[in-house]
Order: sequence, then C-alpha cells, then structure tokens
Amino acid sequence: MAKKGTNAMPCAEHRFADGHVETESVLLDRLRALGGEVRRPYELGSVEQDEEGVTLTMTSGEKLRAACAVGADGMHSTVREAAGIGFTGSTYAESFVLADVTMDWAPGPEEVSLTFGTRGLTVVAPLPDGRYRVVATVDDAPATPDPAFVQRLLDERAPGQPEVTGSTWSSRFRVHHRVADRYRNGRLLLDGDAAHVHSPAGGQGMNTGIQDGYALGHAIAVGRLDAYEAQRRPVARRVVAFTHRMTRVATARNAAARAARNIALPLLGHTAVPQRLATELAELNYR
Ligand SMILES: Cc1cc2nc3c(=O)[nH]c(=O)nc-3n(C[C@H](O)[C@H](O)[C@H](O)COP(=O)(O)OP(=O)(O)OC[C@H]3O[C@@H](n4cnc5c(N)ncnc54)[C@H](O)[C@@H]3O)c2cc1C
Repeated sequence: MAKKGTNAMPCAEHRFADGHVETESVLLDRLRALGGEVRRPYELGSVEQDEEGVTLTMTSGEKLRAACAVGADGMHSTVREAAGIGFTGSTYAESFVLADVTMDWAPGPEEVSLTFGTRGLTVVAPLPDGRYRVVATVDDAPATPDPAFVQRLLDERAPGQPEVTGSTWSSRFRVHHRVADRYRNGRLLLDGDAAHVHSPAGGQGMNTGIQDGYALGHAIAVGRLDAYEAQRRPVARRVVAFTHRMTRVATARNAAARAARNIALPLLGHTAVPQRLATELAELNYR
C-alpha cells in the first residue's frame, strides 16, 4: 500500500504560522512510532493500475509499485484524476480573505467574533501570542491581503474595535462544494479533500478527512474496501449539504433573508438547536 499526499508542492502555503506546525510534528512522531514515514519532497506525476497493483511515477522519474494507492492529495487530486473519478459540485461566488494579524482587538483574546454584515461575513478568532485569524467573505480579495487591507475591512465591519499592527500570514481563496462520484476505482482510493471539499463554515474538512482515514484503515485491515465508500460518502454528502446551508445563511445578501436570519438566530439560542449544532459540527454523531 503506497500512501501518497507527501508534501512536495504547496506545503508552505498550507503551513500556517501557528500551531499547525506543532500539530503536524505530533502526528509525524506518532506515525513514525507506528513504523510509517513521510517522504519529502515527493511529487506524484502519474498513476497507473493493472491487475496486480499500481505504479506511481514521481515527477523525479522514480517509480513506486504498490498493491493499491490512497489519494490523500487534496482538492486537485492527481490520484482522483488518474482514477477517472468525477468531482461533482460547484464554486461559491464570494472570495475569502484569510489573514493572521497582530492587533489590538477590543473584544480581546477570550472570544471568537462572528459578524454578519451587509458587505459579508467576518470571523475574528484569537491565536496564541497576541495574534488573531481574520476570515472574511469579500467580493474581490487581493492575492495577499496586507495589514492596511485588513484594517480597512475591520473598520468597515467592526468600527472602532481593531488596530492592526502587522500580519504574519495572509491569503485569499475560493470555496468549492464538491463530492467525488466514487471513493474507489479498482486499486485507487480517495481520502480527505481529494474526496470532498466544502465551505469552511463550521470547520469540518480536516475532521471529516481524518475520520475517512480511520474508516479506510479499518476497511483495508478487514479486506472490505467497498465498505469504505458505503460508510463515508454519505457522511461527506451530509457535511457538504450542511455547510452549504450554513454558508448560504451566513452570506445572505437579500435584505429580507438577512432580517429573518438576524431575528431567528438569537431566538434559536434558547432552544436545543445549539447543542444539536455542536454535535453535528464536532461530528460526534458519526462515531
Ligand atoms: C480557511 C479554512 C479554514 C479551515 N478550518 C478548518 C477547521 O477549523 N477544522 C477542520 O476540520 N477543517 C478546516 N478546514 C479544512 C481543512 O483545512 C482541509 O479539509 C484539510 O486540510 C484537508 O486535508 P487533506 O490532507 O485531505 O488535503 P490537503 O490539506 O490539501 O493536503 C493534500 C496534500 O497533498 C499534497 N499533494 C497534492 N498533490 C500532490 C502530488 N501530486 N504529489 C505529492 N503530494 C501532493 C499537497 O502538497 C498537500 O500537502 C479549513 C479550510 C480552510 C480553507
């Protein structure tokens, strides 16, 4: 079994300047303790399967042979493409800004702020060392949002609350909602964002991929590879549908829809909905 997804390409882009590096090193230590290894840099160029196994050709020319291959290679999965598996869905119109900034932020580091505004959704979440992560929907985001851009954005959406002093990392991205038509074609299998992508609303993408990995490990161990798709694809469809609804509610432009949302949300806070929402977002209902 060759596990791909070894970070040859946009690793630096994905590596946020915070606890992600620490998390990655904890996971790597555990993988090594179990006898596994991650090879870097290693970029998969092409995959071919035959009756006996798969041949993975790296961009360096090196070839690997394995019984099967798991594409854990993200949204633009080479393995999914090689397997000829469609990725059905579409892309949201809004672009998102993501910036880790240092700032004086009036609400302080003890809470996450979520603001629904006429111009878009804004989330400010505290990070270690006096930094904050700002995520916002905007009509047209710059490639690298600088501190001045973030200051203007927050001045407009949370007036009087921010004083941005610097930025440690920033980016823009578009959000897709798609699910792979199948999770397996012969000896090629998909896991994580290679199999499903959706809005970050609710922060479920990584957790869904980790649960995929666990289910796939079990399916391989007991020799029931088809059980993997049957178990996990319905979960991805549900997560995608759920985050799609949340995104539509959060980014509503229509004045009547926004007014209804703004009235309903505080009322729902006094019902059982927040508890159900927390269980859904934590994915504890899929155990
Ligand atoms: C703003 C934002 C906030 C988010 N917040 C959360 C959150 O709070 N909680 C949560 O659970 N999820 C969250 N997510 C989603 C989460 O980041 C993704 O679901 C998760 O990173 C997917 O992991 P993955 O390993 O499947 O794919 P990726 O993270 O895309 O990793 C794929 C890897 O494969 C490598 N690769 C690609 N092609 C090749 C190739 N040909 N050869 C070798 N290697 C290759 C890439 O370099 C990359 O390292 C968020 C996403 C965004 C955009």
